[in-house]
Amino acid sequence: MAAVVQLEEIHKIYNSGEVPVHAVRGVSLTIERGDFVAIMGASGSGKSTLMNLLGCLDRPSKGRYRLDGTDVSRLGRNQLADIRNQKLGFVFQGFNLLSRTTALENVELPMLYGARRMSSRAMRDRAMKSLELVGLGDRAAHFPSRLSGGQQQRVAIARALINDPQILLADEPTGNLDSKTSVEVMGVFQKLNEQGITLVMVTHELDIAHYCRRNLIMRDGRLVSDVQVADRLVATDQLRKIQEAEAAAKLTA
Ligand code: ADP
Ligand code: MG
Repeated sequence: MAAVVQLEEIHKIYNSGEVPVHAVRGVSLTIERGDFVAIMGASGSGKSTLMNLLGCLDRPSKGRYRLDGTDVSRLGRNQLADIRNQKLGFVFQGFNLLSRTTALENVELPMLYGARRMSSRAMRDRAMKSLELVGLGDRAAHFPSRLSGGQQQRVAIARALINDPQILLADEPTGNLDSKTSVEVMGVFQKLNEQGITLVMVTHELDIAHYCRRNLIMRDGRLVSDVQVADRLVATDQLRKIQEAEAAAKLTA
């Protein structure tokens, strides 16, 4: 079966406050393996809630969620934690790296909690491969403070990939980055996607969404638009243009 994600009439109601908040209102969605999806929509439209449901960080109040063929909508906390470890990788806006450990050690971290028993040598080799995949093989011994924002986000991506996830989920991964660095990170995502990794990300920025294959828009907890991106931007092309413009600006300066 090619569908990694199947949501059927998913609802999420938060009951924590005085009044219940109906944050997701009947979302049905299928995501095929190898897709690259951007979720957009105004602040408060339910994007993060939907991402938390997709990421098994929270359970739907109603509806069915099949992840990689397994119904995960009614699983308990421990079972959800196992599913997250085995099937999902997460990238956040704020990188969430440990500051006193090297890039390599940050990438190794999820393996320490993983089900698989591995020698420290095997873990190091895997972490190194993952860093090389995001183009940071030569920065393995650096502490996060010695890395740029874009490099830190790439370390976080390498960490998210370490357990071979079925899906990589990213909530505003370029939210803290300047526009050129954002394009670099989208380049890493495009490269991973070409290698078959399924990606779902939330973004506020329309131009960033143009690097994805498919764009969803949420409004008031509902999916109101779902389109294939007609003329996708290619990050390597855009980066070349940015560099040419920078070089031209230097010549005239
Ligand atoms: P977005 O990511 O699109 O900005 P969210 O999913 O964060 O939207 O929020 C959707 C709605 O749910 C908002 O009205 C928000 O205030 C509410 N909400 C989000 N998280 C919680 C929570 N833990 N408890 C109660 N309400 C929440
Ligand atoms: Mg949000």
